[in-house]
Amino acid sequence: MFRLHLLLLASLIATDILHRVVCDQGDEIIDLTYSFDENTLYFPSDMHAPFVQEIFHRGPYGPLWLESNMFTTGEHTGTHMDAPAHLSEGRLRMDEVPVGHLIGPGVKIDMSSKASTNPDALLDVKDLIAWEEENGPIPNGAILMVFTDWGKFYPNRTAYFGSDRNDTFTDSNGNSLLHFPGVSPDAADWLIENRNIVGLGIDTASFDYGQSITFPSHEKLFKANIFGLENVANLDKMPTTGSTVYALPMKIKEGSGAPVRILAVVGDASNSAHTIACKHFIVFGTIFLFIAFIINC
Ligand SMILES: [Zn+2]
Repeated sequence: MFRLHLLLLASLIATDILHRVVCDQGDEIIDLTYSFDENTLYFPSDMHAPFVQEIFHRGPYGPLWLESNMFTTGEHTGTHMDAPAHLSEGRLRMDEVPVGHLIGPGVKIDMSSKASTNPDALLDVKDLIAWEEENGPIPNGAILMVFTDWGKFYPNRTAYFGSDRNDTFTDSNGNSLLHFPGVSPDAADWLIENRNIVGLGIDTASFDYGQSITFPSHEKLFKANIFGLENVANLDKMPTTGSTVYALPMKIKEGSGAPVRILAVVGDASNSAHTIACKHFIVFGTIFLFIAFIINC
């Protein structure tokens, strides 16, 4: 009996080692969210506000240990979602964005090489077409992420925005002080007319590039009720395709935007064919090895 137990244990250990080698390749969860703290960036304008945390209590409280804080923040601060109503009258506000739009196939378009030589670079229609030639059509319901590699500057305001001002983005002549890459209005039009994405994210503070003062790409996408995700973190770690993006914002009634937790689940840890195959691998692998050990011992 003792020998049988020993053989079962050996089978389990052997299967576990094999499982680690074979299965632990796909199921990965990438956090695309910056922590909120005193360094959290927000768009330079008097229409936006920093994140401030106030500690009410952190320590013994009668017989208990108690931590309880308060925070204030602008809706468009740090990693956040823009509701379509933000820049398009009559469109969806934060609590009205359908929950089915908050989860979708993750698509990453890399414009980092173009942005590395030009901080005012724009994602064009030809970039979208070139991406599709390599990867196939952008799937319905996709949450499309634009990777500029601007995250390498976060949270250095001057490097991230191209300006150290946090109160305004324009000079006295009304020209933009900011320099960072974005999405061209033509690319926004092409996505609206030809594809069916639910959200567009970027690793800068705005998907209209820094030099814009009229925000046409925002207006176009929001008019089509496509939400925005800005200051998205860790896009360098997100794969081009093959992930499911979960973008879950605070549900603020009539909000124009909200802090959001964004995750890219590579291979979708909960229900992908890969995950199911690996679960079968553990069960049948253990049984197989157990029988093999009994026969050989
Ligand atoms: Zn915003």
